[in-house]
Amino acid sequence: MPVSAVILTRPRFPENIGMAARACANFGINRLILVAPELWLREKAEALATPQAKAVLDSIVVVEHLADALAPFSLAYGTTARTGGWRTGIVSPAGAAAEIAALGPNDGEVALVFGPEDTGLENSEIEQCTRLVSIPTMPDASSLNLAQAVLLMVYECFKAGLDQGVYPRRKLGGRKNSPPASLEEMERLFEVLKTTLIGIDFLPEENPEWFMLPLRRFFRRSGLRRHEVDLFMGICRRINRLAPGKDREEAGCLAAAAAACRVPSSAQGLGRTGDCPGPHQEE
Ligand code: SAH
Repeated sequence: MPVSAVILTRPRFPENIGMAARACANFGINRLILVAPELWLREKAEALATPQAKAVLDSIVVVEHLADALAPFSLAYGTTARTGGWRTGIVSPAGAAAEIAALGPNDGEVALVFGPEDTGLENSEIEQCTRLVSIPTMPDASSLNLAQAVLLMVYECFKAGLDQGVYPRRKLGGRKNSPPASLEEMERLFEVLKTTLIGIDFLPEENPEWFMLPLRRFFRRSGLRRHEVDLFMGICRRINRLAPGKDREEAGCLAAAAAACRVPSSAQGLGRTGDCPGPHQEE
């Protein structure tokens, strides 16, 4: 069940009302009730509200007493920075949110109740609430800004509601990832890569597999996806198209030159052309 309304009791600053309205809009609450506000100036509130929050500001109902605001609700979660003394049975925001999300349509409507910026809710007001919630903080700095307390509470309730399917999920941007490349696709890529790299004299024509080993390891480690295989295939195609055709004679010369310039025994004495470093010793 979603939270039906946020009640601000005796709020002092219209800016906080604007920010609270914005938080409500962000997290799916479109009813804001003000109990005896000290100062309610729409323009000042609007300066801190988004276009969506303006609809919440439009919905504002001002009442004289907390009891009037609470009348239509079955459950009221009062919020307090103070946790000592007689205040027992205080729940955490996540605990309250889980309780609320688990409610069914026959359980009645839920309101979150907040106190004024300076003093917080009076005892008589807390007594009218069915539950008491406190947002955990450092012990010596427990008092949050009113609108920030609203934000944290409505966020927690929204999060719990999302898991219960109470609110629609926002689509996360970006294209869907293609599936992971199959071993067959990887092999096809390695084959094309090998031919391409031989074609541009990066790999020697003799035993190119040996020099492909570090590349194979690199690509395997990177967890290629299908579209990324296609990307590398495309790059290879382009290279092949641009690379000047190697005639046999030239290829023979290169192979001979490569053989003359032998790499260490770890590379099995094979010559190399171009910049191919061959496999790392430790691999
Ligand atoms: N000095 C007051 C704090 C007022 S802050 C006090 O000690 O209670 C204004 C309102 O923000 C509070 O009435 C409460 O509704 C909310 N709030 C601030 N800090 C909070 C916290 N740590 N947990 C829950 N609500 C909090």
